Amino acid sequence: MKKYNFKNLNVIYTEKEDGNMKDENIRNRFLKSIDLKYIYLPKQNHTNIVAPFVNMSGEADGLYTDLKNIPIGVLTADCMAVVITDFKGLVVLHAGWKGLFSGIIENGTKYFKEKKNLFAFISPSIKSCCFEVRKDFIEKMKEFNIDEKYLIKKNGKFYFSLQDLAIDKLKKEGVKDIHLEDICSKCDNRVYSFRNGDIENRILTLAYLS
Ligand SMILES: [Zn+2]
Repeated sequence: MKKYNFKNLNVIYTEKEDGNMKDENIRNRFLKSIDLKYIYLPKQNHTNIVAPFVNMSGEADGLYTDLKNIPIGVLTADCMAVVITDFKGLVVLHAGWKGLFSGIIENGTKYFKEKKNLFAFISPSIKSCCFEVRKDFIEKMKEFNIDEKYLIKKNGKFYFSLQDLAIDKLKKEGVKDIHLEDICSKCDNRVYSFRNGDIENRILTLAYLS
């Protein structure tokens, strides 16, 4: 488990040693160990939907709250968890390529009226060293007008940088200060990686304002 404080924003993400956070019992045990009673998680499905945590009955891949001490989070293995805050409210997003391409970051920042002092945190996630993509992915990039600069060609193969695209999108939305947790989920053994065979295992990234 790693914990960060950025002013009154608390961000915690789990590691393999904390167990599979998709498992409710393991998750509850972990929450108890850090003195949290509950957590709000959306019903993730690679959508671009960001819902207020009080109204999260349907599918969503991001939650918003402006209440203090309400932990919200997402589960990931290779995808990014992105936390965005103006230190009065916050969103936590599950952002893989599908969500990124279809605008989950833009939908997340819609919750902030003043975009001057936004801060964002990006969790461990698969980086361009390991995120190999194929022709169908490159076709999707064209469909969504994603700049080719995020593609890296190496030994005749193509790799994509989710983080660089996320950072550019965040900056475009007015986020000035970004903390990128510089850990590739596939290279680094401390966190789960879908592409490394962790099909059912997930890390949890949670955040709350105090
Ligand atoms: Zn890597």
